Amino acid sequence: MAKSPTVSLVNINIRGVVQGVGFRPFIYQLATRHNLKGWVCNTSEDVRIEVEGETRDIERFLRGLREQAPPLSRIENIAVTVGIPVNNEKFEIRHSIAEEGKYQLVSPDIATCPDCLREILNPEDRRYRYPFTNCTNCGPRFTIINDIPYDRPNTTMKVFRMCPKCRSEYGDPLDRRFHAQPNACPVCGPQLELTDAGGDEVPSEDIIAKTSELLKEGKIVAVKGLGGFLLACDATSQTAVNRLRQRKNRPARPLAIMVTSLDEARRHCEMNIEEEKLLISPGSPIVLMKWKAKSTVTRAVAPGLNYLGVMLPYTPLHHLLLRETGKPLVMTSGNISEEPIARENDEALRRLGGIADYFLMHNRDIYARYDDSVMVVERDIPGFVRRARGYAPYPIHLPYESRQILGCGAEEKNTFCLTRDNYAFVSQHIGDMENMETLEHFTNTITLYQKLFRIRPEIIAHDMHPEYLPTKYAKELAERDGIKLVPVQHHHAHIVSCMAENGIKGPVIGVSFDGTGYGTDGKIWGGEFMVADYKQFTRMFYIENLPLPGGAQAIKKPYRTAIGYLLSLGIEMDRSLPFLKNIDPGEIDIIQSQIEQGINSPVTSSMGRLFDAVSALIGVRGVIEYEAQAAIDLETLAAKAVNESAHYPFAITKHDDINTIKIHDLLAAIVNDIHNRTPRARIAARFHNTVAQMILEVCQKISPKTRITRVALSGGVFQNRLLLMKAVSLLEEAGLKVYTHRHVPCNDGGISLGQAAIAQFCDEEEG
Ligand SMILES: [Zn+2]
Ligand SMILES: [Zn+2]
Ligand SMILES: [Zn+2]
Repeated sequence: MAKSPTVSLVNINIRGVVQGVGFRPFIYQLATRHNLKGWVCNTSEDVRIEVEGETRDIERFLRGLREQAPPLSRIENIAVTVGIPVNNEKFEIRHSIAEEGKYQLVSPDIATCPDCLREILNPEDRRYRYPFTNCTNCGPRFTIINDIPYDRPNTTMKVFRMCPKCRSEYGDPLDRRFHAQPNACPVCGPQLELTDAGGDEVPSEDIIAKTSELLKEGKIVAVKGLGGFLLACDATSQTAVNRLRQRKNRPARPLAIMVTSLDEARRHCEMNIEEEKLLISPGSPIVLMKWKAKSTVTRAVAPGLNYLGVMLPYTPLHHLLLRETGKPLVMTSGNISEEPIARENDEALRRLGGIADYFLMHNRDIYARYDDSVMVVERDIPGFVRRARGYAPYPIHLPYESRQILGCGAEEKNTFCLTRDNYAFVSQHIGDMENMETLEHFTNTITLYQKLFRIRPEIIAHDMHPEYLPTKYAKELAERDGIKLVPVQHHHAHIVSCMAENGIKGPVIGVSFDGTGYGTDGKIWGGEFMVADYKQFTRMFYIENLPLPGGAQAIKKPYRTAIGYLLSLGIEMDRSLPFLKNIDPGEIDIIQSQIEQGINSPVTSSMGRLFDAVSALIGVRGVIEYEAQAAIDLETLAAKAVNESAHYPFAITKHDDINTIKIHDLLAAIVNDIHNRTPRARIAARFHNTVAQMILEVCQKISPKTRITRVALSGGVFQNRLLLMKAVSLLEEAGLKVYTHRHVPCNDGGISLGQAAIAQFCDEEEG
């Protein structure tokens, strides 16, 4: 019989996150279902498919490809070309092809899927209570991969030889574990180990049951997770939490908790549908949510705050531990103060030995340190406070084709960014670059990203601050390899990061409110209104420069900032002001002389410092224990006076051709309110209203002159949700289009993206 004339053949290339997510079995099943012959294979840059069969079956196949792709895959591009039929006899999955210089996207680590969870809870299943259960729909990815293509020999699973049962799952295209690289079971996979702080094994029948017992007794246990160790303790025990705080040297900083289920989360927090969706999403981040008064979680977890950071279990080990313990657990990064999260077993015992009583470890290595992501939902839109597990190294899409560039990021909350094509690979949160451990984490992670995504930067961008460690790193690297160096102003980078992630090009009015950033005049900036595009920025308005008596000391002690501001603005500082009560009059005299003589009193236009000053002035917080604490407390207080609509006055004057925002009247009005015994919550709310009003009025001055109607809000101050909400609604009511952050944090975690985008356009011709 003659062959049907409708037989044809097509070749398909698919790019995106299409490896390690069950894509090839999906293709295999889809092709066989539609009677197609041919093959599928992974390469270093894509998935390639050849299908041969009747034209209408191929059409159905192509439709299925788009509509039924596995949940964790992210298709970026499908290219189809028609070829000449070659009489394929069957459909097969071929070996991966490694190609020089090619790259592909890498999936982040993904929270345990419902199927795997069912298995570990089912006594009949061979993976019952096995803490390293995973499949193509879930489990570790980025933290175990050392190179591409994503195959077992390129992961830390290579040392575990699969048993016959695992091997047959791995080889069966119809199995959920087909080519699941971390596939493992109790017979052949990684194993748990429980030790005391000295590294000696703790004997037990059942390690998870024993660990739960210890946690219920109030002990602190270091638990090895996906990207490092977390410190766990009973979140309902004030004693346990305080012991953890004391040993970790974290007196007040809020800690995150992990709870068994969404139902349990509802017992502790008021949640909306978006927050629920985020909690159960594959990324499984920590979500900051309104803390219920009747929650049994001790207030010591987040002293004085309305918000609680909650996450659900994201590995089988967490699921088993939480269920067994039956209580919410504190789960906080396994580190001392600002050091990076501990990764290896020996390292953890050495560094965390003085904090944890016990260590729950395993023998699977971790390539990449990977902190938990922290998110918050504002106006139904999720945004990042910290972007790491579950999200990085998935790229941000750029609105242009980029050269290969490295943006080294800022000193605090560091991330770096590597670009190529239309991708910006913003790293996971690296941390505060204040010690050698973090610097090492930074350089190792840059090396890993360069290797995974085959990037050799031709430009290196860095912050203008000469003393930042990433700046020094950038300069050394540029000199060593002869690479072009581009310094980028901190607040320009903030604004451009917001533009880039929103995919907008042309100029915007940028409002960058921040704690600290090195200005082009060498001063500390941070209350900036600019007109900016990728190439350049013009500083249009800023908050007048005011002194920080004692410099860094003023940042730790906001009362010094408050005194400095009042004195230098000539506002009468009546010693009856309550915030001065506990301050040694001698210190006030010293501050006064520091300011008068300009000794160690750098000036700043920082909005973050203005929040500090007001917080201290009205007696909310005069000394801080963690960054932005004074501002957070002020926001918490202001939220109690939601109906307050008044705002304070401020003035605008021209100074050296730039308009400055004068705050004498604002602070004088607050002092007046204090003397009139206006409730502090109302003062705090009025202050927030004032800052929102300032944003509106200044944008309304810039917009008509420049004909720009788009406003980008960026900088750490916009983590203040109350301020963000007020500012956005005022600007939108005034007909301006507002852009905020969604894919990278508004804080310094977003700086590297802005740097890389600015460097791309740095040598473009004017006009
Ligand atoms: Zn799974
Ligand atoms: Zn096995
Ligand atoms: Zn900043």
